[in-house]
This record gives sequence, C-alpha cells and structure tokens, in this order.
Amino acid sequence: MIRLKNEKQIDGIRVSCRLLSAMYKELVPLVKPGVATIELDQWAQDWIKKAGGKPAFLGYGSPKNPFPAALCISINEEVIHGIPSKRRIAEGDLVSIDSGIDLGGFISDQALTIEAGKVSDEARRLNTVTRECLYRGIEAAKAGNRILQISRAIYGHARDAGYGVVHQFCGHGVGLELHEDPQVPNYAHGPNPRMTEGFVIAIEPMINLGAGDVEILDDEWTVVTADRKLSAHWEHTIAIFRDRTEILTE
Ligand code: MG
Repeated sequence: MIRLKNEKQIDGIRVSCRLLSAMYKELVPLVKPGVATIELDQWAQDWIKKAGGKPAFLGYGSPKNPFPAALCISINEEVIHGIPSKRRIAEGDLVSIDSGIDLGGFISDQALTIEAGKVSDEARRLNTVTRECLYRGIEAAKAGNRILQISRAIYGHARDAGYGVVHQFCGHGVGLELHEDPQVPNYAHGPNPRMTEGFVIAIEPMINLGAGDVEILDDEWTVVTADRKLSAHWEHTIAIFRDRTEILTE
C-alpha cells in the first residue's frame, strides 16, 4: 500500500533529508585514502545523535542479523550494504556510502559514490554515468507519470553507456518507514503505479561496470557484483507535488 504524505509530513521528511545532506557535506571530505570505514561510521553515529536524530540503518533488518552501523560503506565491487570495518580506504577506491536518519519519526535516505584520491578513468566514468542515471530518473518522476518511466530512464542511460543494471535491489517509498511501497526498480519490471501528489520515494540506481548480476556475501549483508567488477550507487529522496518535484536530500 502506498502511503501518500500530506504537507505536514513532507515538511517533517524534508527536515530529516536536509539534516542528512548536511551530514554528507561534512562526511565526504573525510572519505580519503587511509581512513578506516569504521571510523567514518563512528563519526556519523556521533554526528547524527548530536543533531538529535537516530541512524535509520542501525539495527535495521532481522533481529538475528541487524545491520550494525549508521552507514553502508561499499567499496569497488561491493554494490550496497557494505558493513563498516577496520578496512582502510585505498587510493583509487570507489566508495559508495548510503545512510538514513530518523528524525522524530521522519525518515530520509541518500547515497553517493566518492572517488578516493585519483581513480581510474573507467571508475570515474562509471561514477559519472551512475549519478546521471539518478538525475534522469528524477526528471521522469512527476505527477501523472508512472513509476516505470523512472526505471526506463535509468536503465536506458546505463545501457547506452554499456553498463549493467542491478535487478535484485531497487528504490522504494520512504518517509514514515525506511522501506515503503512502491518499489522503484532500475529496470522496467513489476507494478507500475501512477505518481500523484504526496508520493515520497527514494530513487537509487546501482550501476555496474560489467554485468548487472550480484551476490550476497556470507555476512548476509554485503552485496557484490557477481563478476567482481566495479559498481556505483547514487540516491536521493524526492517528493512529488502536483506541479513540481522536489529533491529533499539536496
Ligand atoms: Mg534506499
């Protein structure tokens, strides 16, 4: 069931989203060769708590294996859901960071891929195209259009560049919970509701240098490309109004 948000709810979600993008503004410069990903996560947990929010990803999932961090940090062939650890970021890494904040019950969700130091030309191009895919998707996200128009815009741009599109994971409704209906796939597949005023969704292309196939590692979280080639990930939370679409995490 798609929960349409009223103006007051969107106001609350917007505050959460702006807080999240403010966190990223300070976090991105810290993502450099030599830093351990667990250090970045500790920094983020402290930052979010100090700002009066709760890390929305911390403890998410099944009680048996809850996600243990505020940030998903996924490096190179890791696509999403990487768990922060003592691993240190190396020169040339593609570092995808995904995070969310729960601010008084209003949930934000945003991801971006950072180039650590000097990355290869193929890594930079993949990252650029993935970010473009996000904005192509956002352009298609407006009242009157259908969800799969977003998917087609993302898929088409990635395929034109020769990249693989991850099928097994997708964008989603967000705002009152971390994952709500509808699904927002990165390829045209499944239910295709028409967007109306009050839709709040996270659009999140996950684009691979090679094939779109992925695997989940033994930690039951980290998603990697099946061919172990590079992946990138960009995400915004957006709100649909009758006559405009607003990127809330910007
Ligand atoms: Mg998301």
